[in-house]
Amino acid sequence: ELANRMAEKGADLVKALFNLGMMVTVNQTIDQDTAELLVEEFGHNIQRVSESDVDIDNTVDVDPAETLKPRPPVVTIMGHVDHGKTSLLDALRGTDVTRGEAGGITQHIGAYQVKTKAGDMITFLDTPGHEAFTEMRARGANVTDIVILVVAADDGLMPQTIEAINHTKAAGVPMIVAINKIDKDEANPKKIRERLLEHEIVVEEMSGDVMDVEVSAKKKIGLDKLIDAINLQAELLELKANPDRDAEATVIEAQLDKGKGPLATVLVTRGTLKRGDVFVVGTESGRVRAMHDDKGRQVKEAGPSTPVEVLGLGGVPRAGDLMNVVENEQRAREVATYRTEKANEKRTAMPVSNFENMFSALKSEMVEFPVVIKADVQGSVEAISTALGRLSNDLIKVRVLHSGVGAITESDVTLAAASGAPIIGFNVRPNAKARQQMEKDKVEMMYYDVIYHLTEEIAKRMAGELGPER
Ligand code: GDP
Repeated sequence: ELANRMAEKGADLVKALFNLGMMVTVNQTIDQDTAELLVEEFGHNIQRVSESDVDIDNTVDVDPAETLKPRPPVVTIMGHVDHGKTSLLDALRGTDVTRGEAGGITQHIGAYQVKTKAGDMITFLDTPGHEAFTEMRARGANVTDIVILVVAADDGLMPQTIEAINHTKAAGVPMIVAINKIDKDEANPKKIRERLLEHEIVVEEMSGDVMDVEVSAKKKIGLDKLIDAINLQAELLELKANPDRDAEATVIEAQLDKGKGPLATVLVTRGTLKRGDVFVVGTESGRVRAMHDDKGRQVKEAGPSTPVEVLGLGGVPRAGDLMNVVENEQRAREVATYRTEKANEKRTAMPVSNFENMFSALKSEMVEFPVVIKADVQGSVEAISTALGRLSNDLIKVRVLHSGVGAITESDVTLAAASGAPIIGFNVRPNAKARQQMEKDKVEMMYYDVIYHLTEEIAKRMAGELGPER
């Protein structure tokens, strides 16, 4: 869009950005300051039109270090179906020392908080699985700090376990392995640890740095150890946020309640959300009429990492939408109206880059070229991975986010979209739903039936990513 307006080539802008130290693809959004810099770089005049004059830009307003205070970790549980995700979520909820306090009746609002024996708080997202996780990430909402990968000790690594591993790796979120169903006679945790090695997950038991805990969600074994592991990981991450400012939150789930109207569970990411606050969330505006916690209790305010159900929205937002408290209703309506118009105008969904990955790539001066590979047979998957691996050098490296045999699925598309990666299909095609999703998310599809053609094209693109100066 910007290239068009300047009558320049998109690729030239990408190159210029690379020289400024930013790795972006041609259909990615950049912030206003970067855009200005780029326009000047190309010798054009800047004329500001509404965009950020109207909308809220959460990226520019960074909290000074001295305002930051420790906040609880936000944890998501993933794993294969029937390995015990739901059971573990319930068991962990049961460890809450505040349970049973006056009026404490369990409410499923999409997330809950546990106060541990040591007095620490942990927030769990109540929607297990990697689909929700990656969809949120694709929408720019990286709320999860730690992933717990549940693997049933009597079953082993299954397809969804591997997907969960790949989605977690792509997000750059640290993982704790919970080896579940340890109470069963057939349980073989040793085998699980060995199989994890094949996916480059080396657990502590095998002298690696990924924490692993043996648990039984059913018999409530090892739960304290798992909580300790979460706290330890959280400490390493030094999670902090400024609680003393207007709140910013992310929608975890939302629905239309017949009696109460639009309801949304939000997770406060910084600041403190208070009753009476005026806000804008996605394309909706509103005022906090009431808030409830996961125990159904009315609360007056909610600080960082706290999930609360909010009443008082003008409409139902989408999971992953950002909520911002603003100064008054007029401002809230202005932003909401502007966003609605923009959304109606043209739907150019675009992947939001993973900043963590980008920064780590920048630090090591190593550019990564992410791809998702699907092929008709395992032999092809391996041949392609090896061939692409050979294209890597000191400056750029192909990163296979996920690979597998069979048709391209929605899950592949969400993963690709979240990382701005193309999907390589070798003798396979997407199913109908995946095709729709691809169009919506603007994910690029590359079909091949000759490996040489594929490597040639990828090599060309990798050179393009690096630009002329490298
Ligand atoms: P999900 O699909 O991953 O959410 O798995 P569920 O939590 O629904 O568990 C699937 C089945 O495994 C249920 O029948 C549970 O009772 C059982 N299960 C879960 N955890 C354990 C455990 O620690 N030990 C045993 N023996 N069974 C378990």
